[in-house]
Amino acid sequence: MPNITTPAAKGAFIDNEWRPAESGETVAVVAPAEGEVFAQIAESGASEVDRAIRSGRRALDDGAWGRMSALERGRVLMRISLRIADHAEELAAIEARDTGKPMKQARADMVATARYFEFYAGAADKLHGETIPYFRDYFVATEREPHGVVAHIIPWNYPAQMFGRNVAPSLAVGNAAIVKPAEDACLSVLRIAELAAEAGLPEGALAVLPGRGATVGAALTAHRGLDYIAFTGSPEVGEMVQIAAARHGIGCTLELGGKSPHILFGDADLSVAVPSIVNGIVQNAGQTCSAGSRVLVERAHYDRLVGAIAEAFSKLRAGTPEMDLDLGPVVNARQRARVERYCSQAAADGIAVLAEGGIEPGTPAGGFFVKPRLFGPVDPGNALAREEVFGPVLAVMPFDDEADALRLANDSDFGLLAGVWTADGGRGMRLARRIRAGQVYINGFAAGGGIELPFGGVRRSGHGREKGLAALHELSTLKTIIHRHG
Ligand code: NAP
Ligand code: MG
Repeated sequence: MPNITTPAAKGAFIDNEWRPAESGETVAVVAPAEGEVFAQIAESGASEVDRAIRSGRRALDDGAWGRMSALERGRVLMRISLRIADHAEELAAIEARDTGKPMKQARADMVATARYFEFYAGAADKLHGETIPYFRDYFVATEREPHGVVAHIIPWNYPAQMFGRNVAPSLAVGNAAIVKPAEDACLSVLRIAELAAEAGLPEGALAVLPGRGATVGAALTAHRGLDYIAFTGSPEVGEMVQIAAARHGIGCTLELGGKSPHILFGDADLSVAVPSIVNGIVQNAGQTCSAGSRVLVERAHYDRLVGAIAEAFSKLRAGTPEMDLDLGPVVNARQRARVERYCSQAAADGIAVLAEGGIEPGTPAGGFFVKPRLFGPVDPGNALAREEVFGPVLAVMPFDDEADALRLANDSDFGLLAGVWTADGGRGMRLARRIRAGQVYINGFAAGGGIELPFGGVRRSGHGREKGLAALHELSTLKTIIHRHG
């Protein structure tokens, strides 16, 4: 792995420069594939939060950022996209070391990150309002305005992509974005902030505050100067964020993961379905909010369908980023312990391991590797059917018919994604329309894919929509101007 020079320990990124954190503390950054510290980040705190929020407010009220036209904002975003693309290899190496993911995944993440900025660059000047017929001597028009200063709290699973998914639409509508990346993996985000400043992003439009969730994250959500919060992470922290937003009387978007089901019928084309179902849970070592972590299988074809998935599962290999295999390690020792705890509990509950992949010889002993595992049949009440493991663990659950499949799919606290696999188009469409989830795929599945496609959950998966043009609506507010012209 190349040596990574990172400006991270220099502090927090505010007003396009590094400011040493007042705490003077740093947080060690561990490479998940090695289990060794390889960098330090600053521990930002309440004073950096306050400084960043004041800087964002200034940029909106008196600064170049607030004066920019939508067209100019779009052009800045396009320059950021090109800079990310130019630095893709450097950023992918940082991301792979920081998260442990295979290089091919880290490279794909940088393509997606650049694409977020490209998509929203083009959209910035196409967010139209409307005119509304009213009494004859009135002219009424609506326009979308930025919320103002927006906090974006993002997780460690896809740091660069999460940055793109949050910040590109937020800047496109003209917000000042304050990013709190995850302490476990944020080095690519810190580097992209520098690239954004080099691309001409005016001072105050973006701040990045590295540090721990319990300190800088909590200080950020507690600050009265915020106008909106967008959060991606666990349901537990999501609840705290929502309470903080309620205290300030501001809105929030919550993206809290899921227990997304596939529904696999006997008539499905297994040459497409099986690789997609397997990839949907091993991609990023299962640490993907939209991972398909349950596969509901038509009972009449159970042995053939599960046999095909098991065969693919048994070939999976976990390794270091440079080995570039099917999956890397999970992010830290706590996450590995969590995955192993779910697997031991499943075994104690009498659930069979139907197939497992392996860990490639030669991976460092200190790395946080786990074997991908296929468990089944899993009872609908079992933890493996109900809780988000956030690891490469897939639960097989048989169903009898279409109605049973729908009942099982919807028997969840979560509702983020679903995949339906069938040659019967009518059946696919009937299910897609009745499954409670933010996105339903028919004969396809892309965990984390599709920048153009509105994405988000229902119920415990959260609320609000990211990606696509829907994100622009979520990250802006509507004003109605009523002119009585006589
Ligand atoms: P998490 O604690 O919810 O982390 C998400 C983000 O929230 C991080 O930036 C985190 O900072 C920050 N945070 C933590 N405590 C905070 C607080 N009190 N106030 C404000 N911000 C705070 O998630 P995790 O502990 O890393 O992962 C736990 C589980 O969450 C996973 O096993 C998985 O099930 C789920 N998860 C879901 C997603 C998703 O994409 N939906 C992503 C990650 C995790 P620090 O990390 O720096 O503390
Ligand atoms: Mg954490």
